[in-house]
Amino acid sequence: MQAGPETQNSSMVVIPSADPSYHPLFSMEDADVVLSSCDGTLFRVPSATLKMTSSWFRTMFKLPQPPASSTTDIITLSEDSVTLEGLLRMVCGIVIPTLTCWDDVEPILYAAEKYDMPGPHSIIRALAHTPPFLNEPLRLFAAACRYDWPDEARLASTLSLALDLADPLYRPDLLKLKTSALLALQDLHRARLAGFRARLSQPPFLTDVQMADGSGQRCRCGEPFDYGAWRELKYAMERELERRPKGDTVREGLEEWHVAKVCWASRCRRSACNNNVYDVSSTTRAIRDAIDSLPSAIEAPVE
Ligand SMILES: [Zn+2]
Repeated sequence: MQAGPETQNSSMVVIPSADPSYHPLFSMEDADVVLSSCDGTLFRVPSATLKMTSSWFRTMFKLPQPPASSTTDIITLSEDSVTLEGLLRMVCGIVIPTLTCWDDVEPILYAAEKYDMPGPHSIIRALAHTPPFLNEPLRLFAAACRYDWPDEARLASTLSLALDLADPLYRPDLLKLKTSALLALQDLHRARLAGFRARLSQPPFLTDVQMADGSGQRCRCGEPFDYGAWRELKYAMERELERRPKGDTVREGLEEWHVAKVCWASRCRRSACNNNVYDVSSTTRAIRDAIDSLPSAIEAPVE
């Protein structure tokens, strides 16, 4: 529930007009309301537009007004001129300024939330599907959770799988998430790692029992296999998936890994036999299938 102007009077004071320095795009004489940014830029806006696009202003204009004066009163808002310009361009249908990152749009989103303006939210929600915004999935996730954009929340959770959430680099973005959103994201990352570990311990891979029981599997020549190289490779893949839950670096890059080359080159220890221990192509395919089977997005929209 958006707080109405009755409870937000602290963010709005009405002062007599003086020293006008109007924003060039918002200086139309026929506009009957003057808004001031906190840094003193004035914006002339038709009250009809504000009433149509914002229930906050709609409520404010319904409140008893002071007696009409010869000069227009200025309504000072707590947003700076850049934010107010972006917001008013969106509600007045003026070409939107170039917004290239979350630092540009977040203050507009906050202001739109405060004044209960759905229009700017829709515009920014559409913008969020373009590369500069998709490149910061944690910021997209935060906005999507805060403003109840379920599709974008799922998309952002998928994109976040390329990130290691334990990296201190992402701490500031994670701290901005609501607890329920943070937990949903961590659960997804953890579920992929746990799922991958579980799959690697089930057929067609060697089970934990087979790994522990060295005599359980033997070469056709009767010599027991040594699974040390597979154990190393498994560990390396799990660490990589922990660092990058997306799994693409395991899925596509495995051939280049030293531990993988050592593992695939494993031979029976009996020199006269020299049998391959692992079937490289079927094992590689099973690893890819295991990664593809992991959950790739948060389950339900975050509250
Ligand atoms: Zn052998």
